[in-house]
Amino acid sequence: MKISYSPYTLKPVVSLNANSGVEPRQGVLLKVDWGDGKIGYSDLHPWPELGDKTLDEQLSLLRDGKVTTQIEQSLWMANRDADLRSQNKNIFDHGTKLKNNFLISDFRAIKLGQLDEIKQSGFTCLKIKVGRDLEAETEFISRAAGKDFMLRLDFNGTGTWQIFERFIASLDKLVLSRIEYVEDPFPYDDNSWADARKLVKIAIDNQFSRVRWGNFKRIPFDVLIVKPAKMDVDYAMQLCDKYMLQATVTSYMDHPVGIMHALGVAMELKKAHGKRMLDPGCLTHHLYQMDMFGASIPQQGPYLMRVEGTGVGFNGLLEKQAWYQIKLH
Ligand code: MG
Repeated sequence: MKISYSPYTLKPVVSLNANSGVEPRQGVLLKVDWGDGKIGYSDLHPWPELGDKTLDEQLSLLRDGKVTTQIEQSLWMANRDADLRSQNKNIFDHGTKLKNNFLISDFRAIKLGQLDEIKQSGFTCLKIKVGRDLEAETEFISRAAGKDFMLRLDFNGTGTWQIFERFIASLDKLVLSRIEYVEDPFPYDDNSWADARKLVKIAIDNQFSRVRWGNFKRIPFDVLIVKPAKMDVDYAMQLCDKYMLQATVTSYMDHPVGIMHALGVAMELKKAHGKRMLDPGCLTHHLYQMDMFGASIPQQGPYLMRVEGTGVGFNGLLEKQAWYQIKLH
């Protein structure tokens, strides 16, 4: 097995969440030669703000022949990609297009009238990052609910139970009825999450690692956010089966290669698990300045369509990148 990497920079056009601003983000594409002429590509995009090891740390671990969960997942995806490429197939040969939520990482960037445009282009669900200015956010959320969107609100674990309770109490019935779920309302805790769940449906994402599975009488959340970029997908779906959770597959606000990988997983899981799978959240490349990769993803409103090429696509672009082989120590 030969692993090469190609560094890239993503330049956010808006603030991405309550934990991070608009600083450029670094990641690497991976190219894995599995032997027998099988080559696959994937993305490695750490979020140290959310607890991941930094890119440098991960690459140096890889050189030492060690893996993080993130690296493991990147290799898993490079393997899936290699399989498809060797069979001359694209992820869309196996799955049908899926509707994505519209991600609003900073509502202040949404201009007047833009919600109507989003609606007209076919989106039915907004995912809104909250926790920076709840008063202003509540106003925006009410406006969005009034336009008949379903809402997913993501606190990224930044709130507290008190803030959350006050926030939910401040919402009127219409708004509450439009909330599909609230993600990571505050740092995970069995009891206070169980209380939060009495108020609204709760989804767990970056608080996942704090859960001691098997410890609770009744599970204190309803939805598991499945991020193939950093989570063993089979394990995640086993948990969903066991605890009767619904699941949303999302990208990792990463490179278009990572986005199409997440979409490929979402399409596969939709086929296998049907209604358990909620609409995915893989449409995230607009958070960054458009590059050649992003521009290669055809989009029809909420749908990401087939990218030309085999595997996750991008064949010509991937070949043109500068690749550096990782010398294993
Ligand atoms: Mg989240």
